[in-house]
Amino acid sequence: MNNISDLVSRLRERGAGSVALQFPAGLKRKAAGIADTLSRQGFSIIISGDPCYGACDLSLELLDYADVLVNFGHTPLLAHPKVLHVPFRVDFDPVVVCSALPLLKGTAIGIITTAQHTHMLPAVMEVLRAEGYEPFFRTAGGRTPEPGQVLGCSFEAARILGVSDILFIGTGVFHPLGVQLATGAHVVALDPLSGQSVEVDAGKFLRRRNALIEKARLADHIGIIVSTKPGQARLELGKHLISLSDKAYLVFMKEVIPDELLNLGFGAYVSTACPRLAYDDQIRFPVPVLTPGEFEILCGVRHWEDYTVDEML
Ligand code: SF4
Repeated sequence: MNNISDLVSRLRERGAGSVALQFPAGLKRKAAGIADTLSRQGFSIIISGDPCYGACDLSLELLDYADVLVNFGHTPLLAHPKVLHVPFRVDFDPVVVCSALPLLKGTAIGIITTAQHTHMLPAVMEVLRAEGYEPFFRTAGGRTPEPGQVLGCSFEAARILGVSDILFIGTGVFHPLGVQLATGAHVVALDPLSGQSVEVDAGKFLRRRNALIEKARLADHIGIIVSTKPGQARLELGKHLISLSDKAYLVFMKEVIPDELLNLGFGAYVSTACPRLAYDDQIRFPVPVLTPGEFEILCGVRHWEDYTVDEML
């Protein structure tokens, strides 16, 4: 982990004696080594063994046992005086961006990425300028405090006026798909580690979502999931959604687990929790899990033509 000495200084500044550590799945194997390092510096350590999907998902209950909670792998989302964040940075060769150039339609390019790579943006911009392109990025703030940063629940940094294309630099298909749905722009996704790039086409995805809405329409009862996680709780949205249908009920959940949805037995659900649950995890769920906007379409208060990706802005 690249910034442990900086973390030690920040913990000392706060006078922390006991420290709770929280990691996302991909970094959990680093927990014991980081605990060793911090213990040697005199801190008393506890480790959260629960899942952590983002900075929306802080184990604040551990502050009953520790002076400070350190969340690894994410940028800050909820301001809390006893929480520190240590984002995880991944370098790449900025010249890799040249492999995406043949897919771009113009020369004014909006650049977006995830928190692992935001520190690489200046080097990427330099390469693009040397190739004759005009790169732009914006800092959206709020849930995405870093330059060019997008999250699975916020594509605000991709709303860049006057560009011909949006270039997403990162792994996976969900973020660039969300960006295309949020902006309507021509989006190219570049995996900076493999050098593979693709043009994003949301058509197939939208056809699948439309089929899910129609399947959910057949349900006798619909559970409106409201998360109890601090950065995912959208109770007011949940209340709005149950007002649209007399067969919808609020269902409060911390972890949205397929078996629990099966046990509850509703014919369909709507997730007001992390938007990625409805989109990315649908394949795991026994019944349709819609987004709030999709439920509005089902209830006839939104037209399919006004489909929009679910975001927490
Ligand atoms: S709500 Fe979902 S996409 Fe947003 S930060 Fe949390 S886990 Fe990530």
